[in-house]
Amino acid sequence: MNKLNSICVFCGSSDGNDRTVIDEAALLGERFAEEEITLVYGAAKIGVMGKVAEKVLVNKGKVIGVIPEFLKLKEVVHLGLTELITTNNMHERKMKMHELSDGFIALPGGFGTLEELFEIITWAQLGLHKKPIGLLNVNGFYDHLLALLENMVKSGFLKIENYELLLVDDDIDRLLKKMRAYKPAQVPKWLKADKV
Ligand code: AMP
Repeated sequence: MNKLNSICVFCGSSDGNDRTVIDEAALLGERFAEEEITLVYGAAKIGVMGKVAEKVLVNKGKVIGVIPEFLKLKEVVHLGLTELITTNNMHERKMKMHELSDGFIALPGGFGTLEELFEIITWAQLGLHKKPIGLLNVNGFYDHLLALLENMVKSGFLKIENYELLLVDDDIDRLLKKMRAYKPAQVPKWLKADKV
């Protein structure tokens, strides 16, 4: 069983227009506080990001925000977090988020969310970490992305073992269960020279 003392959440800096997403973000925040999972996230007080953080804090949980200096605008950064870490740039931010977290969860979001999710999956694919990565597929938001990933497998661009690095569920408790039970497969992305 993997210990999940802290989880990094990637999600929208906007609210989106499906109320279910914000409600699910609130539930995730409550669950983190209940299960004493520290939230690591991008430190904004806006959008889906802000909702997860708000709910962890209201329920007396811990939140660590990691934000690059240039994004640290007063109207966006959450000033009530348990801890706020400032980095020099986006690369350092992602390294820091990775260092601080036992796993990752993506909720609905835009480019920023996808970029963070795919960087962390790529690091797993390269064997740079063995932490579980969950996708909370709220209301089918990620169905088209999952169809694309399946097409990548079918087209020979993505190994099924690497596709399976992404743990998917539409239910928070089932997703956390999958993340705790996750055992990384030992498949290298690159074949050894003598196998090519
Ligand atoms: P997006 O999905 O494009 O809304 O971007 C959200 C993701 O990018 C979050 O997981 C953040 O880590 C990062 N991000 C984007 N905008 C901000 C912001 N204004 N403040 C903090 N982080 C942000």
